[in-house]
Amino acid sequence: MESYLKIKAYAPEWMENFSCLGSNCPKTCCKGWNIPVDQEHAERYENLNDPDLTPILIKVFKKIKIRRNGKQENRYFLKLLEQREDICPLLDKTGLCSLQKKYSSDMLCATCYFFPKILWQIEDQWSLSASLSCPEVLRRAILNTDPIRFTWIETELDPESEWLDLSFVKDKHLKALLNNRPKIINIMISFLQNRTDSYATKLLFICSFLTNLSELIQNSDISDFDLLLSNAANLEMNNEITPIRSVDSVDDLTEWVQLLSTTFKWGLESSAKYHSDIQNDFLKILCYAKIPSRIIAENYLFARNQVFQPFIRKHPYLFENFLIHFIFSDFLKQFSLYQSETTNVTNIIRYEILQLCAIYSLMQFLFVKQSLSSGEMDSSIFLDVIHQADQSYLHYPVYIQQSLQHFPNIPLKDEDIRILLSC
Ligand code: SF4
Repeated sequence: MESYLKIKAYAPEWMENFSCLGSNCPKTCCKGWNIPVDQEHAERYENLNDPDLTPILIKVFKKIKIRRNGKQENRYFLKLLEQREDICPLLDKTGLCSLQKKYSSDMLCATCYFFPKILWQIEDQWSLSASLSCPEVLRRAILNTDPIRFTWIETELDPESEWLDLSFVKDKHLKALLNNRPKIINIMISFLQNRTDSYATKLLFICSFLTNLSELIQNSDISDFDLLLSNAANLEMNNEITPIRSVDSVDDLTEWVQLLSTTFKWGLESSAKYHSDIQNDFLKILCYAKIPSRIIAENYLFARNQVFQPFIRKHPYLFENFLIHFIFSDFLKQFSLYQSETTNVTNIIRYEILQLCAIYSLMQFLFVKQSLSSGEMDSSIFLDVIHQADQSYLHYPVYIQQSLQHFPNIPLKDEDIRILLSC
């Protein structure tokens, strides 16, 4: 196999010298998911005649036939979810891949070769991020006490990376928005890295900047996009925005818990209605005649005020870095939506604002929940919550997209943004 092409991609500076921890990794990425295998490596695996490794490979490598556009196609996977403890049987005792050890990294399928890197292209611009389910990525992306910086770095071209061809996007305003993604993100990040305001207030600034931007794109000249961006940011700076304070009333927090519950369905997304009803009945008995969301709100308030907030005041960069990573990796990434005739800048920006506020709320909830169960919060617990969330929700944009469709008020109103941010 020829080595992969080299390209320049916009990426966080810490990606420049990133390397996998190998056998020193405390959590392997070869666990807990079914790994898609590209055609070229699938053929190599099918033809491998190795007395030691072929019998192991047969257990995990599977071909699936699907019908697409009336034609039959093959898809290939390393099915880790069918293995003991969901771990790849090709891992040796030292935690290294036996295929790679014996035949070099050329033998790794593209997914394994490139993991945890995530590369994508909009028109001719490449960006590179990485999955927070990798402990080394978490350490570098989140534990950095200095503001995260971005730069252009050389990287290998992942043939499986997402690509958005703007010639298929019909709306010229949307095209301008997507073409200028890196500049928009830089402005959002600079708002977040101003350490004088609370996260919630900074996010409110960002939402307001995006709303201004959406209006300016629709109603003014888009040929000078830099001017338009600076006008949207300046409008924001000149606006009198009332800072967001964390709510301390159980009634208000109960309303927030119910809003999150309706949106994210607490993992019951695909369950039938009666499953949710049964679960609610159990909760009611456990809560002894109290409303379950009220008890959640009371516990939340206690753990947030006593454990999580004191910790985060001492380590303000942690949540900032998480939000920056999320914005850089996920903002304006609903590629499949952008080619629809009915999509426009207003809809897209509204969705992005909702996603950002809902993810902030969800993560805040998860951090506080963990503070309550552990009785403490420290950097390693903080990272563990992100690791779990990345594996369960954040890595699955379709799940987030489906969840956000349950949000009760669409389009989002200013008071919804405030409720989501004031938790
Ligand atoms: S999770 Fe990250 S550090 Fe661990 S083996 Fe995978 S790529 Fe390497």
